[in-house]
Amino acid sequence: MYSSPTEILRSVYGYDGFRGRQGEIVEHMVAGGNAFVLMPTGGGKSLCYQIPALCRPGMGLVISPLIALMADQVAALVQAGVRAAALNSDLAPAARDELWQAMRAGELDLLYVAPETLLRPDTLAGLKQIPLSLIAIDEAHCMSQWGHDFRPSYRQLDILPDHFPDAPRMALTATADAPTRQEIVELLRIGEADCFIAGFDRPNIRYAIEEKDSPRRQLLGFLERHKGESGIIYCLSKRKTEETASWLEGQGFRALAYHGGMDKAAREQNQRRFQREEAVVMVATIAFGMGIDKPDVRFVAHLDLPGSIEAYYQETGRAGRDGLPADTLMLYGADDIALRRRFIDESDAPEQRRRMERQKLDALLGLCETAQCRRQVLLGYFGDGCEPCGNCDTCAAPPELFDGLVAAQKALSCIYRTGERFGQAYIVEVLLGREDERIARFGHDRISTFGIGTEHDQATWRAILRQLIAHGLVNVDLAGHGGLSISDDGRAFLRDKPALMLRAPRPARKERGRKAAR
Ligand code: ADP
Ligand code: ZN
Repeated sequence: MYSSPTEILRSVYGYDGFRGRQGEIVEHMVAGGNAFVLMPTGGGKSLCYQIPALCRPGMGLVISPLIALMADQVAALVQAGVRAAALNSDLAPAARDELWQAMRAGELDLLYVAPETLLRPDTLAGLKQIPLSLIAIDEAHCMSQWGHDFRPSYRQLDILPDHFPDAPRMALTATADAPTRQEIVELLRIGEADCFIAGFDRPNIRYAIEEKDSPRRQLLGFLERHKGESGIIYCLSKRKTEETASWLEGQGFRALAYHGGMDKAAREQNQRRFQREEAVVMVATIAFGMGIDKPDVRFVAHLDLPGSIEAYYQETGRAGRDGLPADTLMLYGADDIALRRRFIDESDAPEQRRRMERQKLDALLGLCETAQCRRQVLLGYFGDGCEPCGNCDTCAAPPELFDGLVAAQKALSCIYRTGERFGQAYIVEVLLGREDERIARFGHDRISTFGIGTEHDQATWRAILRQLIAHGLVNVDLAGHGGLSISDDGRAFLRDKPALMLRAPRPARKERGRKAAR
């Protein structure tokens, strides 16, 4: 047992003071409370459970998803003189026996364990014989089916309150939207008052989101500013990581690929090189992520739409952990969106889950298409806020807006006149006055809104509809086939005709193609 939290902070970690809400959380845990800690990556979550575990009698139990991650943490702790160890399946029987002996003798301050190991009956039985100072569940979002990294074994951690009723519980994560948050808190029976949501803002990270136009050119433009720096480029598919990496090699970058389909040795080698060498660009699927502990990642780019706002926040959050300026770029295209919708529609997931996925996608598209400060929208999603930041693309160059009243009226009345049950694609076809067998069959080629939208092209109408959805004027029937209907706000809008500024339509694809060909 050690002395006071601040003394431990100084003697074990060599820090002068707590950061943000760390001190408050530590005090709460030392006093035996439960806690849910939502703090961004790099915010300093580890101290929040390590220090109370050292202050309180008994051994701290830390649940962590990755053996590699555990090994790093344990090594650092041992280096600092803390009696820490990891219990995992790689351990030789003799070493395991020795570890259990040490635990029983009260000679261990912190034990790291993966959920699979913890949940084994023999592990649970053994741990019940040992006084626990607290149980910390790191990466707790893995418990939630709404989270972006659901793990069934993590879900089973809901047995902990019953198995270890005397140990204070602590769930920590860097990423959790409201439903995820609520699920974790319920599963672990942590009270509302015990939630600590610390500042999400990462002021040193610059945010920029662009529609995919010619992605390689856009990427090169971005990388131009980051020559000689390390960064990560996320792609959706394994093949694309390899193609992009070898293309970047040809452009004079040191680029490596990383994805789940590579054999383990090659993957680990690339990760090590990224970690140790300078100016390495890692082109990866989202398989590359957890456990990266490189403080000087200077940029993160997404070549495809990320999975959700949380995923975007988490993935961009890997940049600039040293607090120095870091840069991000996300490219998204209509194809990404269509693909993502199809994934969701065709998945075998229960309807409730698919509905949640669609909502998350719409929130993400709202971020993509906002004319507001990106940071405000991003933080707002987590229940946090800020002033217009001056460090994002929309702050730097506010997007051109146009008076969207007429377009919105046309779109809404087209939705209304077709019976508020058709999806985006159909509504756009009617607005454009397309000849279509379905449209004719429903008689929608004879309604007043047929062909009233020819001043915009298909992509622009889609963008307008997405913005109307983002503004809450149009509802999407998520339980059914994505039919659009007019929300209460939309009806009020049609009645009151207030000003509505939308992002200006971009030049049509065709035109730009022609220019490029010249
Ligand atoms: P998280 O788990 O939230 O991603 P970590 O616990 O790994 O973050 O901490 C991130 C970094 O910040 C680490 O290098 C850690 O040593 C450092 N750190 C944490 N708390 C403090 C503090 N109070 N003062 C200075 N550095 C800190
Ligand atoms: Zn901003």
